[in-house]
Amino acid sequence: MVNCMLMISADLENLTNLQPQGGCDDPNFSYFFKLKCGCGELSQKETCVSLAETLPTQGGKGTTNLIQKINDAIRWSVVMILVPDIANCKFCGREGTVTMIPGRGKPLTQEAAQSGGFSPLMLFDCRGYEPVDFVFGVGWKVESLAGTQYEDIDLSGGDYAEYDEKGECPVMISNLRFKFEVVKH
Ligand SMILES: [Zn+2]
Repeated sequence: MVNCMLMISADLENLTNLQPQGGCDDPNFSYFFKLKCGCGELSQKETCVSLAETLPTQGGKGTTNLIQKINDAIRWSVVMILVPDIANCKFCGREGTVTMIPGRGKPLTQEAAQSGGFSPLMLFDCRGYEPVDFVFGVGWKVESLAGTQYEDIDLSGGDYAEYDEKGECPVMISNLRFKFEVVKH
């Protein structure tokens, strides 16, 4: 079992506190990433997990977040029709789970972003697989330094730009970056 912390960073121009719409533990926020099996096989499509959907684990102890395979064509739809499926490696058949551990994320502040730092977003308990290739999708929020709130931001295009009337300045999110860091117990 490995715990992987998803860390994010971005260039924030006149903005701060980038985070999922409902905060770092937003139950409806969907995380998209690929999974790499212990045998080295990489999943072909992004997998989606969110806190709102959990399944009883085998043996009945606790819950694990549902791992869903999604079709590229509907990757960015807000409402997704998905076939529930625990991930199975196509190569070796290994079954794996990814469980989200909330309570560890922090909004990405401008201070952290300016110093080139990353903010922790979500911790994943990974069994059999490790997450790779996180994809920034929809459902983000951020605020300007002047206090304007921006909601339901779509970062799937890689950046976001607006004009802040209150601060009378342009605001922009760009240069999105991520990394998965193994967290030791
Ligand atoms: Zn495998």
